[in-house]
Amino acid sequence: MPRSDISGFYRLSPEERLKLVKEFAGLDDAEAELLQRSGALSLQQADRMIENVIGVTSFPVGIATNFLINGKDYLIPMVIEEPSVVAAASNAAKMARVRGGFRTESTLPVMIGQIQLVDVEDPMVAKERIIKETSRILAKANEQDPVLVKLGGGAVGLDVRILSSSIGPMVIIHLLVDVRDAMGANVINTMCEAVAPMIEQITGGRVFLRIVSNLAIHRLARARAVFAKEALGGEEVVDGILKAYEFAAADPFRCATHNKGIMNGVIAVALATLNDTRALEAGAHAYAAMGGSYRPLSHWYRTPEGDLAGSIELPVAVGVIGGATAVHPIAKICRKILGMPSARQLGEIMAAVGLANNLAAMRALATEGIQAGHLKLHAKNIAVTAGAEGELIDIVARRMIEEKKVSYDRALAILRELKSQP
Ligand code: NAD
Repeated sequence: MPRSDISGFYRLSPEERLKLVKEFAGLDDAEAELLQRSGALSLQQADRMIENVIGVTSFPVGIATNFLINGKDYLIPMVIEEPSVVAAASNAAKMARVRGGFRTESTLPVMIGQIQLVDVEDPMVAKERIIKETSRILAKANEQDPVLVKLGGGAVGLDVRILSSSIGPMVIIHLLVDVRDAMGANVINTMCEAVAPMIEQITGGRVFLRIVSNLAIHRLARARAVFAKEALGGEEVVDGILKAYEFAAADPFRCATHNKGIMNGVIAVALATLNDTRALEAGAHAYAAMGGSYRPLSHWYRTPEGDLAGSIELPVAVGVIGGATAVHPIAKICRKILGMPSARQLGEIMAAVGLANNLAAMRALATEGIQAGHLKLHAKNIAVTAGAEGELIDIVARRMIEEKKVSYDRALAILRELKSQP
């Protein structure tokens, strides 16, 4: 079994790193070549994905190393524009390895479709009638997607809620659908639209909205890991991290940033596999607020041995088929690097990466502060923004770091100075 704890990976050139990833994941020459070609997505492919296309853009694909999830090594492709996130995930995963890495699990991939029913005489009677006709409604829904049913998925249940609103009561029907390896929004929307006339006929009411809910509470991924106190830097660091966590648990202003740190990892993997990032963000933050106040998606505590243990649970509406996942050539290669996971496995991987990024951010904040880690790449970005090119980028960035003054003004001044030298 190839291992993901490749020492000094970050010191290699992109070409050398790709060679290692190619071996690890069994990529062929064409796949490896495509990864390093900016513009892997053709204009024609892009034009079929969205409307009014005029071009394509590209993002860096980084690899987080050291991940051990349920005893298996993973190299994690992460697509993100923000410096430090890939390094942070790799560092946290390295620390997690000491106590066996990440353990993950997930629920069945059941998504919710909502059907809004209004203008019924008696909402309770309507609810009872719908429940009585459950099997007929589910059968109608399943007629829409024989492929999904054949794969063991399909509509599996109904929940009926009566919602009071300022315009009167509404009956909200939740169609529960096991979407297998799809993200599921299209599947669900089609099924909801198909059963709507039947629901009107059963209840005598009128259906308005028929749409997936992004609060996917039945489709959860969980990950947990123990971080040895020695690996983290000692008892004081464990203390600091727990203080950071309790801050987030007590304060929505901090909690938003705490959860953003988690989503740094989750979304980077989602982008690498071309999943719907908005669906994930909406689901995660709504889930964090389910209890009536906005809470951290992760939980941290000290073990009896004094180590730090963390766990995370979040909704993961992600697919490995359907949507754009199968269209984008890089997304396909990234799935191969991940070992062709099922949608459930992909959600679990995202949970593990989210937990890793959360730990890394809290550790950095509780020790040297976040800027130390950010500074090197940030300085390079600032140098480029100020107009540095080629070798000048590194020279300007290094000078700013040495001077402990990383700013656009300073980058401009150094550039001016360097350019005025003969
Ligand atoms: P889809 O309709 O492209 O693909 C799903 C279909 O693939 C299924 O209907 C099934 O017939 C088939 N299939 C083949 N093999 C399968 C397998 N192993 N598992 C499951 N299905 C299999 O895609 P989708 O996942 O239903 O929809 C995802 C897209 O919907 C995303 O692009 C998303 O952005 C978009 N979307 C999202 C929202 C939202 O989140 N609110 C709303 C509308 C659309």
